Amino acid sequence: MGNNRLAGKVALITGGARGMGASEAQLFIEEGARVVITDVREDVGQETAKRLSPDGSVCTFLRHDVTNEADWSAVVDEVVKSLGQIDILVNNAGIFERGSVLDTSLEDFERTMDINVTGVFLGMKTVVPHMVKRQKGSIINISSVAGIQGTPGFLAYGASKWAVRGMTKGVAKELAPLGIRVNSIHPGIIDTPMLQTFEAAGEGVRDAVRTRIPLGYEAEPIHVARMALYLGSDESAYSTGSEFIVDGGWTA
Ligand code: NDP
Repeated sequence: MGNNRLAGKVALITGGARGMGASEAQLFIEEGARVVITDVREDVGQETAKRLSPDGSVCTFLRHDVTNEADWSAVVDEVVKSLGQIDILVNNAGIFERGSVLDTSLEDFERTMDINVTGVFLGMKTVVPHMVKRQKGSIINISSVAGIQGTPGFLAYGASKWAVRGMTKGVAKELAPLGIRVNSIHPGIIDTPMLQTFEAAGEGVRDAVRTRIPLGYEAEPIHVARMALYLGSDESAYSTGSEFIVDGGWTA
């Protein structure tokens, strides 16, 4: 059991069927929040919601493609109708693809930007009007260490995560007078299905990373979830427009 650090709050977490989003959902619920997770992976999303809240009282799942504006409207309308408010938005859904400047196709570039950048933009655009009405809210955009430093071989991914960091700062300044905070989290290497798929393809990410990470190991999703908890709670009241790095010292 937690310490009710999110008591009374409602959180919307995209890409929450598995990985970091699911871990954030679990921790937020333990801390007293009601959570709606959304994802394109419908079966896994339903299972995760059921596992976190067998009676559906503190967690539900909605199918949602973050690149689709109509999906965003439907999801936000549904959450506001059923739970009355949105206090925390975690723009977590994202994809990770390899490709250098020479071998990234326009199609791959646009797909990555669509999910990782347009998805975050649409999330903020759709949720902010509801937060403005209540003059409060915390938006957490999941970027990456690839949005802190150059990442050779990940042209589109790096571009998308720098864009998330940049949007976060501009929007934070726009919304600060309205009581809404916007921050980005920059995970390093986190052991999620995304990483496991990459590793299974023979990329050797874990070995490469262990040699570069001062703490010497990749993180578990809970390490990032704890940072999201801090940013979603009122404990972080004086932080907005900032980067919160969870990378074991990689970019130090
Ligand atoms: P996972 O792939 O484990 O989970 C992300 C979920 O988002 C998946 O279920 C994925 O479905 C879903 N998703 C993909 N596209 C969409 C879409 N258009 N609409 C809604 N949902 C979608 O990823 P992680 O938990 O590892 O990553 C979460 C976030 O953290 C991402 O933004 C990622 O870039 C970032 N990150 C991850 C790091 C890591 O080491 N794991 C490091 C730094 C940042 P599907 O599997 O079908 O694509």
